[in-house]
Amino acid sequence: MQNEKLLAFVQGLSALLATEPSEAVVLQEGKSLLKTLIAHDDWLPEQFTRPHAEYYQQYLLYADPLDRFSVVSFVWGPGQKTPVHDHMTWGLIGMLRGREVDTHYFSQPDGSLKASEAKTLLPGEVAHVSPDTHDVHEVANFYSDQTSISIHVYGGNIGRISRHVFDTKTGNAKTFVSGYCNDVVPNLWK
Ligand code: FE
Repeated sequence: MQNEKLLAFVQGLSALLATEPSEAVVLQEGKSLLKTLIAHDDWLPEQFTRPHAEYYQQYLLYADPLDRFSVVSFVWGPGQKTPVHDHMTWGLIGMLRGREVDTHYFSQPDGSLKASEAKTLLPGEVAHVSPDTHDVHEVANFYSDQTSISIHVYGGNIGRISRHVFDTKTGNAKTFVSGYCNDVVPNLWK
């Protein structure tokens, strides 16, 4: 019965999105649903917790058939971090295990990107990104000697969305599509 929690989460978010709420409502209600999901670290199947020696891992846990949202397990090996990137849709970041450091970047008049104060996420906490307010950030494992895992939820199929990584000095953007590292997704109905 390990996947009842994840099933309850995707059911809750599907029901919420069926009401076609504003993004503010999605973020507020979605945050509450995600907090419930990550309140206990006892449901994520082991094969979606495995770090890679070189790269942070993005395991797809569930993708809405209508592309309204996706749920991804991000697994950060010691010292691993993302490039500075955007999402092109809303996103929720829920800390499940370990800690991560979330740094937002904002465009400057000269075109460069400036880092805001970094925020450390602790287990049970949820942060968000949004193209309306702050969509560009860098995420890093807080630890240099252990794995951290966060559960991310996005307003689309994030592994298939064309988005960008940035050179912070020039603000130059490069397009990328992240994909996922797993070939199979969890059976929520087991
Ligand atoms: Fe991100």
